[in-house]
Amino acid sequence: MSQVFIKRDMLGYIFQNAASVHPREMILLLRGKVSKNQFTITDLIIPPLPMHGRGFSGFQRYMLPMDFSIVGTVHSHPSGVTKPSWADLHHSFGRIIMIVGFPYKDEANVAVFNHSGEGLALRIT
Ligand SMILES: [Zn+2]
Repeated sequence: MSQVFIKRDMLGYIFQNAASVHPREMILLLRGKVSKNQFTITDLIIPPLPMHGRGFSGFQRYMLPMDFSIVGTVHSHPSGVTKPSWADLHHSFGRIIMIVGFPYKDEANVAVFNHSGEGLALRIT
């Protein structure tokens, strides 16, 4: 099973960001390193022209630089359900889909998936 490593303070920043736009959704790009089945998140990037709305979040993909260090995205689910929607799986960018759910407080409010919707192990370091 693939593992995703993220620093606790980075996760805290993601939670803060999600809480600040709640009940709208937010989305950030995840930059990181990949080795074998391990993803290590190193930076969060604000996507070009982010769109925040009720029930959707996205960005203008054509404005993205060619940046192969982007391993995936993180977005929020104001509903609190940390499961990917059909659209999340079919319009995802990068290799991993991280979802944070309301109330954006602790490990119970975050989950990470691959494109098939399979849960990956999240390691908070
Ligand atoms: Zn979603």
